[in-house]
Amino acid sequence: MWFRNDLRIADNPALVAACESGPVVACFVVSSAQWRDHAVGERRLAFLGRSLNAVAVALAKLGIPLKLIEAPHFDDVPGALLALAEQTGVRQLMFNAEYPGNEQKRDDAVVTVMQANGIAVMRTHGGVSMPPGTIMTQKDTPFSVYTPFKRRWLERLQPDQFRPVAAPSPQGEKVPAMHLDSLAGVPLALGSESWPAGEQVAQNHLKEFLNKHVVQYESQRNFPGLHGTSNISAYLSVGSLSSNQCLYAASEMNRGRLRGPATDSWVDQIIWRDFYRHVIALFPHVSKGFAFKRSYDSIPWRDAPQELAAWQQGVTGYPLVDAGMRQLLNTGWMHNRLRMVTAMFLTKHLLIDWRHGERHFMQQLVDGDFAANNGGWQWSASTGTDATPYFRIFNPTTQGRRFDPLGRFTREMLPELADLSDRHLFEPRKAGIGLDYPEPIVEHKFARQRAIEVFRSQLSSHPTD
Ligand SMILES: Cc1cc2nc3c(=O)[nH]c(=O)nc-3n(C[C@H](O)[C@H](O)[C@H](O)COP(=O)(O)OP(=O)(O)OC[C@H]3O[C@@H](n4cnc5c(N)ncnc54)[C@H](O)[C@@H]3O)c2cc1C
Repeated sequence: MWFRNDLRIADNPALVAACESGPVVACFVVSSAQWRDHAVGERRLAFLGRSLNAVAVALAKLGIPLKLIEAPHFDDVPGALLALAEQTGVRQLMFNAEYPGNEQKRDDAVVTVMQANGIAVMRTHGGVSMPPGTIMTQKDTPFSVYTPFKRRWLERLQPDQFRPVAAPSPQGEKVPAMHLDSLAGVPLALGSESWPAGEQVAQNHLKEFLNKHVVQYESQRNFPGLHGTSNISAYLSVGSLSSNQCLYAASEMNRGRLRGPATDSWVDQIIWRDFYRHVIALFPHVSKGFAFKRSYDSIPWRDAPQELAAWQQGVTGYPLVDAGMRQLLNTGWMHNRLRMVTAMFLTKHLLIDWRHGERHFMQQLVDGDFAANNGGWQWSASTGTDATPYFRIFNPTTQGRRFDPLGRFTREMLPELADLSDRHLFEPRKAGIGLDYPEPIVEHKFARQRAIEVFRSQLSSHPTD
């Protein structure tokens, strides 16, 4: 059983298949150089390492040893796995599919090498509720817009489809559990207080959210100052929680039905997660760094390293943008509303290429996930699937007043503004007092007009796709 971003015992179809054919050896491949190329950040690596330790303990109780092998680049993986297979005498390899282009290429190469050496391979779909390729348009093409995708997804979903598969029973006597103190050079203590790892912790988070908060999700999800969202993205991203477990737990609140007013809006987010996985699996150019809408690759993004740095450090002079960016720097997580506001600010107000922002987010986020991050960035830059039209540009000042009306969140993130009145919080210059806070890096009206003109003129000379 080759574990990747599916670090759980329960609802793991590849692990179940392996145990049915047992005895099982589990492995995890450390690809430090490739992770660096993919901008995987230190917080995420530390969380991944802690999640590995947790799954190693759970596997050890089942009598399954977890072996770590090194293969710095994905190209090294087939050889490293074959060597392990020969050393341990395994005849079959099981794993759950991953959908970004490089991961698919790696996995295809592994299948070829294994089969050439007489080792059977089984690839299951444990990371999504509906595998890519199963939700297609009438013309059998992939969906490029979320709402019709969701409709078809709901039509196709069978009542039993999202029922999690049970954890396998013990395969033998308990074995000693592997334990790591660091992963790819990153100490696992990093962020451990904020992000404890493991399946049990993930389940507790999920239950607490569904029991106490999900009914207010629709009304509170856009307010970063409230605990309005589930905070489970990190667990989903390493797979200590599965999307099916989320759907199933939600359906238990609706007497077994997936849809119900208390949970619909939240379940829609889990469907978004599936959607972006389908997008990267079925539109290979997206994994190669291209805009989903290819014509948008002609946008002449500005080369403005100082402005990029100001955005990264949270010193743009726009309080809501800076509060979001500092939340990211300080905690490794950012509220969804702020991911949209900050991403739109970078791509529209500063006209800086979304790929710089995508990379910075990956380096900082504990929940960094290629599909969701790329989807979110391309949405914000207007280059993606459901992309917001380029002329609809958030005003960061009014977004602040609307989504942090009491200023609770912004004051917490920007203590230098804590004493400002509500009236001046999102326009500190107007307070007329000296502040240790920068002037706005760019004027909103000017920036908005500049972005609209650049997008309009480029797109009129390049037909949209
Ligand atoms: C620019 C940008 C970058 C993003 N980068 C990431 C990322 O790297 N990793 C990541 O998991 N999410 C990303 N998102 C999506 C979203 O912001 C986070 O999933 C969400 O904030 C996580 O908080 P939560 O667990 O409390 O979410 P909830 O609102 O409680 O939602 C539950 C789960 O649904 C999924 N989900 C929610 N919104 C989305 C979405 N828009 N797209 C795909 N899945 C979604 C997540 O797995 C989330 O944990 C990004 C969004 C934007 C706009």
